[in-house]
Amino acid sequence: MGYKIAIDGPAGAGKSTIAKLVANKKGFIYVDTGAMYRGLAVHFLDRGIVPDDRERIVRACEDADVTIRYENGVQQVYLNGKNITSRLRTEEAGNMASVSSAIPEVRAKLLELQRSLAEDQNVIMDGRDIGTCVLPDADLKVFLTASVDTRARRRYEELKEKGTACRLEEIAADIEARDLRDTTRETAPLKQAEDAVLIDSSNMSIEEVVDAIVRLCS
Ligand code: C5P
Repeated sequence: MGYKIAIDGPAGAGKSTIAKLVANKKGFIYVDTGAMYRGLAVHFLDRGIVPDDRERIVRACEDADVTIRYENGVQQVYLNGKNITSRLRTEEAGNMASVSSAIPEVRAKLLELQRSLAEDQNVIMDGRDIGTCVLPDADLKVFLTASVDTRARRRYEELKEKGTACRLEEIAADIEARDLRDTTRETAPLKQAEDAVLIDSSNMSIEEVVDAIVRLCS
């Protein structure tokens, strides 16, 4: 049995940045479960399905095969045998993932894959329901959060750096909408596990958060 770290928290809290750095420091595998929901989202979008067409989404799950491979230590998402990693980080895929991940059939589709990746190896896995649902027996659970304002500003700076036009108010509204969907859905809602350590990164640097987590696992 490997050592398992579960990191949950709302959109934009810095989970993937932090988890990747902790994985490097500890020599663990990093599993990004949001990328798997985004992978299924690409499958739905490719079929011309709109986010609120629940019936077609459930049906489309039947012919979606999402798998994960590691190339040079970096997680790659394959959909029906094709590497679609470069298509995961669009607003469209994010929005479809945020809406479709509330559907129990979509979550069931990915649960076994997520659990199997944590079998027999040291992993740090991030998402929304890792500590509460996917890996309830994780050795360390962290609930990583930050204020909406901080998360929106971070995202705004990131997009500005890439040269993408954006408005801070719109980003904040989108983050609030995603938080609401993630925390109020019936299946596996985003919430802090009882035995998770809460880290609010609003006034912390990336290094401070990474160090805090590394200290917690020793
Ligand atoms: O973390 P990321 O933004 O890539 O995740 C995309 C979407 O997938 C989120 O908005 C969230 O609704 C959903 N998700 C989830 N459970 C997870 C990981 C992601 O519901 N474990």
